[in-house]
Amino acid sequence: MKRRTGQDQSITRAWRPATQAVRGGTARSEWGETSEALFLTSGYAYDCAADAAARFAGEQQGMTYSRLQNPTVEMLENRIALLEGAEACRTMATGMAAMTAVLLCQLQTGDHIVAGRAAFGSCRWLTDTLLPKFGIEVSIVDARDPQQFEDACKPNTKLFFFETPANPTMDIVDLKAVCDIARARGIISVVDNAFATPALQRPMEFGADVTAYSATKMMDGQGRVLAGAVCGTQKFIDDTLLPFTRNTGPTLSAFNAWVVLKGLETLDLRIRRQSENAVKVGRMIEARVPRMLHPGLPSHPQHNLAMSQMEACGPIFAFEVEDRKQAHGLLDALQLVDISNNIGDSRSLMTHPASTTHSSVTEEKRLEMGVTEGLIRLNVGLEDAQDVIEDIDRALTAVGL
Ligand SMILES: *Cc1c(COP(=O)(O)O)cnc(C)c1O
Repeated sequence: MKRRTGQDQSITRAWRPATQAVRGGTARSEWGETSEALFLTSGYAYDCAADAAARFAGEQQGMTYSRLQNPTVEMLENRIALLEGAEACRTMATGMAAMTAVLLCQLQTGDHIVAGRAAFGSCRWLTDTLLPKFGIEVSIVDARDPQQFEDACKPNTKLFFFETPANPTMDIVDLKAVCDIARARGIISVVDNAFATPALQRPMEFGADVTAYSATKMMDGQGRVLAGAVCGTQKFIDDTLLPFTRNTGPTLSAFNAWVVLKGLETLDLRIRRQSENAVKVGRMIEARVPRMLHPGLPSHPQHNLAMSQMEACGPIFAFEVEDRKQAHGLLDALQLVDISNNIGDSRSLMTHPASTTHSSVTEEKRLEMGVTEGLIRLNVGLEDAQDVIEDIDRALTAVGL
């Protein structure tokens, strides 16, 4: 019976991450379908009024409303939790919904947080604009230096928030060092792990309390849907995150959850091949440009740290050309690689952060983060690496590099 309709957790918990990505969390319906079913339903019917009452009272197992639970969404949440090695996961409509929820669900007026300087543009908006509006104090630090976290701590520090590798300058944060500082002070560490995903880096193994994801990126991996996720202990998810998300409603649609479930089945394959391609493409570009920011290449000042906490470098890196004019010229000369600000896609995509993803950040803050006018970010896809190399080689020549 178990075989057909669900899974025995005592068996499935022991599976390795690549197996979890394909099978973790699968719950079969009475039909025994092999591919996960897509449950497009907002509500659920009850056999009798007493059952409805019991389910609302939490005395009977079962679902009540798709803002709160949905079978397809739950399969994805269980799969991500198993991949992460976390007790529990809750998915959200987008990565930013996940980041907003993970911060607002546990912070209040008078609290203080320490956040990494190099971060996704909208994450900087949360820390620089949204949180201060509610009287939450934020210290921004250079997250490459763990000591800066320690030095920024105050009696009311509740949380550390950072990403590694960081968007778009590929700063690496020493997970163990920073999470140890947090643990020693009873501070919660929240890691935005969108770039690496649990296929390459599992921050909880280094002491992180919570991981948060844009599943839009590598987890979907084919540029189709937006999605987000938060992983933590069962207690954190149930007692802290769920009251916030159930009532504010940043729920992931069942359809998008199903697409990400399918994406996860190939995550391990994709991210390893894209990492290999990113190293090949990076080597060619490195010989031609003034500055390369690539955690998979020995020239990156934190290459050894990156490789000690990640299984591979991931598909994303950045490099610098002279100025905005040359950067735009390079993008315009591409024939295969698309000009696009998405990342984690199976297609190779190139963007100029200063005029796109980070254009809403002031110039002063951009420069402080290392987002110069000549900075270009590249997501290397699943195409034959040689075709990507030849395309970029031609574009570099076209702008005189
Ligand atoms: C894309 C991204 C986000 C935001 O995710 P969305 O799914 O676009 O809302 C947050 N953090 C990082 C590091 C990202 O790359």
